[in-house]
This record gives sequence, C-alpha cells and structure tokens, in this order.
Amino acid sequence: MHIQFQHPQLTVFESALFRTTSTVVETPDLILVVDPNCLPSEVELIQKHVRHIRGDRPVFLLFTHSDWDHIIGYRAFDGAQVIASKAFQQNPHPEKSLEAIRKFDDEYYINRPYLIEYPQVDLPIHSDGQTIEVGDTRLVFYLSPGHTPDGLFTVVEPYGIWLAGDYLSNMEFPFVYHSFSDYLHTLSAASQLLERHPIRLLVPGHGDVTTEKTTMQIRIDESEQYLRRVIRAVQNGNKMDADELLSRYQFPHILRKYHQENLELAAKEVGGKH
Ligand SMILES: [Zn+2]
Repeated sequence: MHIQFQHPQLTVFESALFRTTSTVVETPDLILVVDPNCLPSEVELIQKHVRHIRGDRPVFLLFTHSDWDHIIGYRAFDGAQVIASKAFQQNPHPEKSLEAIRKFDDEYYINRPYLIEYPQVDLPIHSDGQTIEVGDTRLVFYLSPGHTPDGLFTVVEPYGIWLAGDYLSNMEFPFVYHSFSDYLHTLSAASQLLERHPIRLLVPGHGDVTTEKTTMQIRIDESEQYLRRVIRAVQNGNKMDADELLSRYQFPHILRKYHQENLELAAKEVGGKH
C-alpha cells in the first residue's frame, strides 16, 4: 500500500491489489473513512492514520457500494457511524459479498484481526441530494446504481471532493453487474453533478485521482461511449473490436473477462438479434 494522493483535507491510500483506493477525508468537523481495504496490514495502516489524526472528531465510515473488496474493512472501524445507500442496507444477497471475502482470504491464507460482517448502516441514503451536515462540513449524496444496484456518489463540501466508488476509473471501462440503463442514467447524473458542484477532486474506487475537470468529463464521456458500443453490438450484431478496446488498458487480460460479461448482461437486458 502507498499513499497515492494527499492534501490537507484528504489522504488517498492505494492498495497493492486492484489499485483499490481507501480515502480518509479530514475536515475541522469530522473524519470520513471511505471503503477501507484490502490486506490486513493495509487496513491497519488506515486505522493508525485515523487514530493519529482524529482528535475528538466523530468518525464516519462510508461504503460506496457492497462489492466485497469495498466492505472488507468494516469491522476494523468499530464505533464509526456507517453511511451507505438504502439499497446497500436492503441488499437481498449480503452473503454474496461475504462469501467473496472468505474465498479471497481462504485462497491466500489471510488472517484478519477483525470480524468479517456485512455493514450495519446507521445513516441510510435514500434520495438524490440528501445531505449530512456536521458543523461547516456538508456531505451531499446521489444514488448511483448501474455497476451494482446500491452505488452512492458523495460530494464533500465546501472542499469539492467527489467520492465516486466504482465509476470513472482510468484503469477500466465500466463493469456492469447490475443494469446498463441505470448505469447510463448514473453517468448523466455524474455530468449534472459536475455542473452543480464546484468539484476539485475526483476519487474513483480503482485507479488514479484527478483534479482536472476536463479529465472527469472525459471519463464520463468515455464510459458512456463504451456502454453504447456494447449495447449496439448486442442489438445489431455490430462487431466490437475487443483487442483494440483492451489495448488501451494496462491490465487487458482480466478486463477481457469483464468485457465478455458486459456483453452477456447487455444481451439479456436489451436483447436483440444474434
Ligand atoms: Zn465494485
């Protein structure tokens, strides 16, 4: 693990695995820990950092969505108030994420000094624009289904920090586990979010932080183009040049599998002739 990005309000840790980010936001009013992961030593480093900086500020623990690699550190932050979407709270299959964690830890003989549990949500977010305010710090939330059904965008005001979860990564095209139409919807909500809030920093769940607004918009546009190409491919039988697509990314082998799964889900969702 290393620190990918740091400024006075924020530290973005990057796991050695999957380039997954764990973010700790620090304002005069609160500490916000986002998706702490992944190896035990990495989670411990984040714990230490939080213990070191927190003082008497309240600690909030935010989960951007319920994928296993994002919830793995939950019980390492006992006492924090947990924020996630209502859909996350009502996840009908929490065992799936837990099973994935157990499989991962089993495969690599990993012991953790804390329990593996599905997060209990204290502050469920059920609607777009919902806020949590502590002192001068405002967390503004937008539901972001598509990758999973339970995604959540968070903007930290007045700092312009956008915590995006598994969207808008420079490491990968969209992985659609849930719904193409929801994903497209979420991308247009992302564009609106960029217009509505003075965003200075975007933190994706995997890959690099960006401070450039044009880069954020490019990531939104490229995600949308990818989804539309996949949809056209399954509807019209247009061939997508997978090799060309994958050549743009640093880790093409694993991405091929996700691209294939996207095509399969798109075929189910939007159908079309084959
Ligand atoms: Zn995910």
